[in-house]
Amino acid sequence: MIKPEGLPSAVFCSNHVASMLFTNLTRASEIGANCYHLQWDDEGCLLDCGAHPKIEGGESLPRLDLLRNRPVDALCVSHGHLDHLGAVPVAARECQDIPIFATYATTLIADRALHNSVNVMTRQRDELRLPEYPLFTHGEVNRLLERFQPVAYGRPVPLGEAEITFYEAGHIQGAAGIWIEFGDESVFYTGDVKFSDMRITRGARFPERPPRTMIIECTRGGTPSQPGFTWDREIERLTAAIEEVFARGGSVLIPCFALGKTQEVLKLFHDLFEEGRMDEQPIFIGGLSRSYTEIYDELADRSPRVCPGFRLQKKMDLVVVETREARAMHVGRGRLLVVSSGMMTPFTMSHLMARRVVERESNAVFFVGYVDPESPAGKLKAGGTGARVDLGGDVGEVEVRSRVESFDFTSHCNREHMLDCVLRLRPRNVLLVHGDPAGIEWYRQQLAVLLPEARVIVPPSGQTVDLS
Ligand SMILES: [Zn+2]
Repeated sequence: MIKPEGLPSAVFCSNHVASMLFTNLTRASEIGANCYHLQWDDEGCLLDCGAHPKIEGGESLPRLDLLRNRPVDALCVSHGHLDHLGAVPVAARECQDIPIFATYATTLIADRALHNSVNVMTRQRDELRLPEYPLFTHGEVNRLLERFQPVAYGRPVPLGEAEITFYEAGHIQGAAGIWIEFGDESVFYTGDVKFSDMRITRGARFPERPPRTMIIECTRGGTPSQPGFTWDREIERLTAAIEEVFARGGSVLIPCFALGKTQEVLKLFHDLFEEGRMDEQPIFIGGLSRSYTEIYDELADRSPRVCPGFRLQKKMDLVVVETREARAMHVGRGRLLVVSSGMMTPFTMSHLMARRVVERESNAVFFVGYVDPESPAGKLKAGGTGARVDLGGDVGEVEVRSRVESFDFTSHCNREHMLDCVLRLRPRNVLLVHGDPAGIEWYRQQLAVLLPEARVIVPPSGQTVDLS
């Protein structure tokens, strides 16, 4: 355990009355690297430790220098996306010999995701001239994985004087909301959440008892829900659009996050084939998506889900395209290309295929989840058919002749659902994190009217908030 040196005396003036201190270790409150420190008495833990997906180099890491004066007795990882997990190996270097709590599914995912991170950083070292890369090594990841202690949903684990409980959070397999209790104090960190069932991962099962403090993700705070929107209608719109593209002799590129979104989209297509709503056909995926699909299949009987025992690879015809093939691959006719990354980040498969897809009128690019407006995918989405769009990397500017359309199959909860959850639990403090300024402002305004007795806080980077 790291013990504080020269900690301000105010921190310890509690006379053993329970108190909790929260410090936001992210460099900004925007959607990016998640990392929060919680302290009770002279004990503490980290909630997530992610790497910022849009920033390269050491600046992508949270402010781990601030841990020097803070106790860290455990690292708690809410789920396996890299903006929650990607900096854990660096933090673990600072915090030797402490356990890492995560669900079993997250432990499996972490193995794949962190080793892949080392590979990507090693490649980027030359591509982007970043001599500090990789920020950690395969050896460090292997040693780190031995420190993971799988935690079952709903079963409290002791940590010093406190108790930590993980609850299902929907979103992806293994995702958890994390409850920390110490004396009268309790904090519930939602992590990334989806309240409704998807095709594989079922909706969140959060506790009904009120925590004193809730830390909520605000990803969709700036996205108004469309009146009359249902997933079924969205599925109908997607199947009709794919049919139109195929009828014109085109192919469909669906840029997807390799972990979570790809498997949900694959299961959706499986169901559509089974129900006869689409003609059965092979689906093209990338190598990284195949790895995460294997993990999802491995979890078929071990992680709660809508379809226990269902294995994608057994039931579907998946054609794996390796990155080196993607550069020269003929896009062809009537193909479904479900490839990462969702943001079309340079050097990923969706980016490598982009030019050949968008230059033909008969093809289509269909977005199915969150797209960062600054990313190549965000620019393509905003520009649409007929625009000239700079996709960056070695693709550069392209003239978009293909169809470009968006479908809402988000794996984050709608803002109304999160607001309902907060209003039901009625915490005394609500901390707003993981959202763009408009999203955070929407929650702030709603809570000011609907839960006026609550203290609503947008925790500034690097500052400590007393939650008692
Ligand atoms: Zn996530």
